[in-house]
Parts: sequence; C-alpha cells; structure tokens
Amino acid sequence: MRLALFGGTFDPIHNAHLAVAREAADHFQLSQVLLIPNAIPPHKQRQTSANYTHRLAMASLAAQADPRFVASRLEEGQAKSYSILTIERVRRERPGAEIYFLIGADAFSEIETWFRWRDVLEQVEFIVLSRPGYTYDVPAGARVHRLETLQLDVSSTAIRKRLANGEAPPELPPAVLRYIRENGLYM
Ligand code: ATP
Repeated sequence: MRLALFGGTFDPIHNAHLAVAREAADHFQLSQVLLIPNAIPPHKQRQTSANYTHRLAMASLAAQADPRFVASRLEEGQAKSYSILTIERVRRERPGAEIYFLIGADAFSEIETWFRWRDVLEQVEFIVLSRPGYTYDVPAGARVHRLETLQLDVSSTAIRKRLANGEAPPELPPAVLRYIRENGLYM
C-alpha cells in the first residue's frame, strides 16, 4: 500500500490543495492521501483563524471529492504538530506501507528548520509540488520527486481576505464554502 501524508493548516482547505493531492495520487499511484490538519503549526507565526474542529470538518467535506482522500485526525490534540512524530506513528500503525510526504515548495524550502529534520528525510520520500513564486534547495540525502505540472496561484491567506470582504472565492469547494457560511467563519 502506497500512501501520502499531506499536512497543512488547511485554514481553509482549498481547490489547489485538492488539485495537487490528486495530481500526486495519479502520478505516483497512491492508494490514499491523508489530509492532516495541523494542531498548532510550528512554522506559522500566527494562530489559525478557524479552530481545529472546523478545519478538520472542512477537510472531511473536501475529502469527498476523491475516493483516495481521507481526512485524518493524526495531529488532533497535540501541543504542536511535528511531522516526524506523525510519520513514526503512521509507520507503527501501518507496517509495510510505502509512505510519501506531500508538500508544497514554500513549505519544503524550510525543511531544515523542522524538529528532527534529518530523521524526516531518512524516513520518507517527498513529493514536492511547485507553487508560483517559490523555489527550494534539496538537502543532501533527501529523496525528492519534483512534481511541477501544476502552478496554482491559490492560498488560504488570499481566500480568508476575500471571505472577510464578503466574497465567495471560487477556489473553495462548494461544500466547504457552505460550511464556512453556516458557521460564520472568517468574517
Ligand atoms: P496560508 O496562506 O494560510 O499560509 P496555504 O494556502 O499555504 O495557507 P497550507 O494549509 O499552509 O495552505 O498548506 C498545506 C500544504 O499545501 C503545504 O505543504 C503547502 O505548501 C501546500 N500548498 C498550499 N497551497 C498550494 C498551492 N497553491 N500549490 C502547491 N502547494 C500548495
């Protein structure tokens, strides 16, 4: 079984997240992509706008777009989300699975700042997705598959701004937009 871990703030999850996940699943014959909302992301300066429960609920709605997508609670309730701990847990829970780590160019460019980053590089192969405006170096020893077929200029930050202006961003899956409206998020 070949699976990919795709972590993020997902605040909110958007169509570019889903498009890159689908592209990776197609290219690398992944049977599953776990969409893993972070508890408190160690790399982000700000707190999330929507709480964990809402971000997980939106990931679950978005996951319905593809049978290979699964919203995962792996990082629920953790004080901080450290990828290496998540990876070690998945290794324990799914012995024999081939584990890939899906990540955008912006996030991968900071990999050497991660907690136990050398262990992360040792444990997983990366699929690094291109993102307009971001480049990255590949640290020695890292196993990296560059996936550069998509260039999607979409971010949760831009979507939050548009929601705060009362707009309906087209980059949101309809069910996610509905959930945001019903719960009064990002106003
Ligand atoms: P924010 O604007 O709040 O920082 P974001 O849109 O970057 O959010 P995250 O939840 O931080 O979204 O991203 C989760 C993962 O998805 C990260 O690995 C990130 O690099 C990747 N990602 C997000 N948007 C894109 C995109 N447009 N193209 C490629 N990868 C992306």
